[in-house]
Amino acid sequence: MAPRKSAPKIKPSKRPNPPNPPKAPKPPKPLVAGNWKMNGTRKQLGELRKLATALARKKAKAEVMICPPATLLGPMAAVKAKGVLLGGQDCHANVSGAHTGDVSAEMLKDAGAKAVIVGHSERRADHGETDKQVKAKVEAAHRAGLVAIMCIGESLKQRKAGETLKLVQSQLRGSLPNGCTAKNTVIAYEPVWAIGSGLTPTVEQIEAVHTALRTALMRRFGDEGAKMRILYGGSVKPSNAAELMAVPNVNGALVGGASLTAKDFGGIIDAYR
Ligand code: PEP
Repeated sequence: MAPRKSAPKIKPSKRPNPPNPPKAPKPPKPLVAGNWKMNGTRKQLGELRKLATALARKKAKAEVMICPPATLLGPMAAVKAKGVLLGGQDCHANVSGAHTGDVSAEMLKDAGAKAVIVGHSERRADHGETDKQVKAKVEAAHRAGLVAIMCIGESLKQRKAGETLKLVQSQLRGSLPNGCTAKNTVIAYEPVWAIGSGLTPTVEQIEAVHTALRTALMRRFGDEGAKMRILYGGSVKPSNAAELMAVPNVNGALVGGASLTAKDFGGIIDAYR
């Protein structure tokens, strides 16, 4: 009998390790930032102390920031209020120079700021700031090592004309430079008609805008865009904060009027306790 041929040994195929499934980016830590606008003198430093005391008693699951007028940055930094970051409200695009009345991002940083609001609708309206100028300010913030809180939002006329999504996407495109990251950039969606008016969009309207912004950010910045915080701003109050902050893709709030007192601002931060 012919010897049986042994079955050829089949080498186990070298199967590459299955690729790690893509990690879902960690949801960003929310940010609740107060914009004091042109309000406040050193008399109001007590509000910062009260806020820090309240935060020490009851920790928040959000970063908390106050953006006072530039004149109060130094005095607020001197208070050393634990748990409260400081930010500026605007900056010039240049580091220094012949720009009377302006403040550079580097100066804000030197005074204690960690961030700066740019492109607020009041700056866009009062000073005619364009997307191109806002983009230069975002770059200035990054150059100085500050987080840029870049604001966009539609007017009531644009909302009524059904132009909201197109408008905010265009503002986003035009006002952000390449290379933005979740660490150095925060977006604030603030419908102009909701600012200081007591009116707010419905949660469905807010979700539609924030979802569109998230999609645009991810398309342009990938994972960084997925992690970038998108704040809602416009008549946020203690009574509506929890509902607004629960909207998908809302990662915090930019608060004007209600950030001026520790009581109201604390009531908004309560949405994250
Ligand atoms: C703002 O000016 O950024 C703002 C959101 O104002 P208010 O909360 O007062 O509407």
